Amino acid sequence: MFESKLPQVGTTIFTVMSKMATDHDAINLSQGFPGFDCYPFLKDLVSQYMGSGHNQYAPMSGVEDLKNRLAEKTKIVQGIQLNAEEEITVVSGATEALYAAVTAVVRNGDEVILLEPAYDSYAPAVVLNGGIPVYVSLNLPDFSVDWEKVKAAITDKTRLIMVNTPHNPCGYVWTQEDLNTLADLIKDREIYVVSDEVYEHITFDGKKHLSLMTQPLLRERTFVCCSFGKTFHITGWKLGYCLAPKDLTTEFRKIHQFLTFSSCTPMQYALSEYLIEPSRYIYLNDFYQKKRDFFCEGLKNTPFEFTPAQGSFFQLVSYGHLSDESDYDLAVRLTKEIGVASIPVSVFYHDNRDHKMLRFCFAKNEDVLQKALDLLSKLSF
Ligand code: PMP
Ligand code: GLN
Repeated sequence: MFESKLPQVGTTIFTVMSKMATDHDAINLSQGFPGFDCYPFLKDLVSQYMGSGHNQYAPMSGVEDLKNRLAEKTKIVQGIQLNAEEEITVVSGATEALYAAVTAVVRNGDEVILLEPAYDSYAPAVVLNGGIPVYVSLNLPDFSVDWEKVKAAITDKTRLIMVNTPHNPCGYVWTQEDLNTLADLIKDREIYVVSDEVYEHITFDGKKHLSLMTQPLLRERTFVCCSFGKTFHITGWKLGYCLAPKDLTTEFRKIHQFLTFSSCTPMQYALSEYLIEPSRYIYLNDFYQKKRDFFCEGLKNTPFEFTPAQGSFFQLVSYGHLSDESDYDLAVRLTKEIGVASIPVSVFYHDNRDHKMLRFCFAKNEDVLQKALDLLSKLSF
């Protein structure tokens, strides 16, 4: 009998719910991906670079122009000057960046602090590297960090803490105080940080995304993992990047070169040209805020309770005041009977803790959101 290295893991909930949505012809607000296309100019650039013969392996750490553009973007957005050659690596999506960063740092028996609810790829990456996940739950109802609990979870074996801001699924955006508190907690220990910042350009109500690298001590200890998928509506291209100081980048690349070696060449050239114009990513906060506001306005006509998300393209809703139905059962019922697919939040907890919450992705056109809201308004418990 084959002994699984990940006995608890099945097919991800995103695949399960997207399939259920298709099978039942439901509006798919489950898996997080934009329901609209990227800009034609970006696609034209890819064709152009394919046409002009940029079709062989890219350099292992990424196309030089793209790394330079990313350094400029980081300077513009976060005010941090990175060395493009030594501190930026282009990878095949944030999922690869997260896995490579965890692999670079975690040794057998090391403890890794995961803040729950947590994105589903973190714990398997830790476990496959012989690490031990140590779970700390975020505060309800706002999903801020309970720093006393984090402090209590740190031991001599703690090697890494994984952070996600803006947060999927909760939308919480880290404050300067969060950054400083984390720095203070780890400054006298050899603890590293993997910061998942894939929603870096999607924050609302004037709230600014503070990359962990803006805090001087965290700057030395952190792998910042990002995705072009979320920023340019190209989740299917699977391209991302990792920003980390030179010593960490050196170790990161040792993993990256044997995981994928390099990422899609013509798309890297296309993105480097596309990034020349900062307005192409700066507009995103307003673009998604309109969608969040539209969706939240419509949610008022449904039985759900909610607090508008601070960031990401997800909105959480609760229904515990009305029913004891499990969030998984409700997500299935909504998909099959009402015609709207969502993600039950319990899947982001290792013990499937059920706070009676669902996650909806609002990265869709308004007509789709309106249709989903009309259907949801018919829901009763
Ligand atoms: N982290 C989070 C929090 C995400 O939501 C996602 C994707 N939706 C990823 C990582 C993975 O990004 P990518 O598709 O670039 O691998
Ligand atoms: N990150 C996306 C989400 O949270 C899904 C990505 C995936 O399907 N792996 O829905």
